[in-house]
Amino acid sequence: MMEKWLLKKKTTCFNCKQYVDQIIEIFLNQALITCSNCGAKRYYIIKNVGVMSEDIIKEEKEKKHKYEPWFLEKLAVCFNCKKESVQDIILTESKLIVRCRNCGFTRIYNFHILEIPE
Ligand SMILES: [Zn+2]
Ligand SMILES: [Zn+2]
Repeated sequence: MMEKWLLKKKTTCFNCKQYVDQIIEIFLNQALITCSNCGAKRYYIIKNVGVMSEDIIKEEKEKKHKYEPWFLEKLAVCFNCKKESVQDIILTESKLIVRCRNCGFTRIYNFHILEIPE
């Protein structure tokens, strides 16, 4: 069975404008963010995988974004080094980046599609 990382972030939903939990589910090849109030879903699909330097995290922190990016951390067992380590998670309007602080294993997902329930 494929392992999934589950996170929550409380923020104002871009769709329903309510300050509620956004459910973040990260799989190996895709990720989705679902609003717990209105069910609006954003899908991200894997684009690049590899060991990368922490510059990739720094660049996103310094870059100007259209919407405020989310900077999250999760203690999880890395798919690459198999150690439990802090994973930096960055979510922007165009991508999702996950990077292991122990080995630098990074997954970059690109925004794919938005689904808004009727
Ligand atoms: Zn919503
Ligand atoms: Zn690792």
